[in-house]
Amino acid sequence: MEYIPLDQHRVAAAGQLSANPLDVLVVGGGIVGAGVARDAAMRGLRVGLVEQHDLAFGTSSRSSRLLHGGLRYLAQGRLGLVYEASREKRVLSRIAPHLAEPLPFIFPTYRRTCWPLWQLRIGVKLYDLLCGGQNLGPSSRLTVAEMEAHLPGISRQNLTGAVRYFDALTNDSRLVLDTLRSTARYGAIICNYTKLEDAPPCYEGWRCRVRDVLADRPYEITARTVVAAAGPWAESLPHSRIRLRLTKGVHLVIDRRRLPVPDAVVMAEGRRILFAIPWGERVILGTTDTDYAGPIEAVRADADDVAYILGVTNTCFPEAGLTAADVLSSWAGLRPLLAAPRGTPSDVSRAHQIGMPEPGWFEVAGGKLTTYRLIAQQVVDRLLRHLGRPAVPCRTAAEPLWEPLESEPSEAKSVSAIVPPAVGPEVVEHYCRDEWAVHLDDVMLRRSGWHYYLANADQIAQQVAGWMAETFGWDAARQETELARYQDAGR
Ligand code: FAD
Repeated sequence: MEYIPLDQHRVAAAGQLSANPLDVLVVGGGIVGAGVARDAAMRGLRVGLVEQHDLAFGTSSRSSRLLHGGLRYLAQGRLGLVYEASREKRVLSRIAPHLAEPLPFIFPTYRRTCWPLWQLRIGVKLYDLLCGGQNLGPSSRLTVAEMEAHLPGISRQNLTGAVRYFDALTNDSRLVLDTLRSTARYGAIICNYTKLEDAPPCYEGWRCRVRDVLADRPYEITARTVVAAAGPWAESLPHSRIRLRLTKGVHLVIDRRRLPVPDAVVMAEGRRILFAIPWGERVILGTTDTDYAGPIEAVRADADDVAYILGVTNTCFPEAGLTAADVLSSWAGLRPLLAAPRGTPSDVSRAHQIGMPEPGWFEVAGGKLTTYRLIAQQVVDRLLRHLGRPAVPCRTAAEPLWEPLESEPSEAKSVSAIVPPAVGPEVVEHYCRDEWAVHLDDVMLRRSGWHYYLANADQIAQQVAGWMAETFGWDAARQETELARYQDAGR
């Protein structure tokens, strides 16, 4: 393993960030911040990005991992939102095919429910039309007999049939990382574990006071403009006018042999819908949608969340008999929804909002993983106007997101995929050298996904800690600290 002097690298990056004024400092290394940084760098701006934790630490590594138009928004009459997201779903399939696997969904229908078959049949046709007639596959209808053959374990009581339609499965944290690697190639400087603490105005724009939280070292970055893309943390940033309603969404991972679904299955629970999503040898079950008022960093799946998701799944698949012992791993995320005091969490709009509370200070809130590229394009259009720069056209819908560098190990190719790559020292070294990994949980949770996928993840974590120790020169005590930190992060 190659030794990497991490602190030297970070000091050098901080030096580059603070040497000359940036055109834009992006605050937040989630999908929105990553998208803005890439687009701005591709249009010739001098860009820096700071993230207080790890890249993709927030909502962008805790989603349902779907690139979707949002069939359920059709039922709410939000055609514009569905059209926008459907178009972006196709754009991402084109620029990042390694992160957009077409996925058929089966939506079973039952007598006397709020999802009648006739309505869904119209809905999925409209859904295909809103994709410009070019959805990732054609929708169809299944009879009861076809359903019984296709999904033998599904509840048959009052079953009237099903519709089948297409969305795509992605890998959320990898989408962030691949976007950022593409960004760095355009000269942008990216620093994780660097928190924005304050940002008073100055002659050039903004004097951003940040802290390298690994070394507890403060420094300043001058930027002509700032884009705050802080997801659930948005309200706590300087100059923020955003008001959010945070709702918690939990996902569980089980072995696919316990629920052998060939396609994704929509599980309706009243008006709400949950999904069973095949993910290699696993199935992802989720999600919940409940108001959340606790500390943002401490969001976790609790026993009620687990019982609710398993309860809905067992009702849909009566012979599955899933219990908490079947849960291999879980994650919990917060939806940074724009505040709407009334209505159930599921009714709150998923639309995004771009604001400029002070001249040159932009903030973005709401939106979805699926629409991040479009959100970024709209933000950078406004940035260019504000900076008085020529209106350079956006190229992010045309240029492929990620191309493996010739000098990278062949394992790097399998890193960019939906399911985790094979465990090995080269791939870990690649994460540490080329993808900003610093802690063991950065590798286990967000770079590789091994924590969520592998039944023996704890054992693998020991091995990975050993490889990272060689790379970063950790002693035995530091390895123990990293293992404890990983255990806590993965709870
Ligand atoms: P985040 O990913 O949270 O990023 C914000 C970042 O800002 C964080 O990493 C944070 O640490 C950083 N930050 C905050 N304050 C500071 C500071 N002071 N200094 C430096 N950094 C700071 N969308 C889809 O399209 N498909 C789905 O299937 C889907 N499923 C979802 C399921 C759930 C349960 C949830 C919760 C969301 C889902 N979404 C989905 C929505 C999508 O995940 C989010 O819209 C998206 O990830 C938000 O990205 P973001 O960059 O705005 O926020």
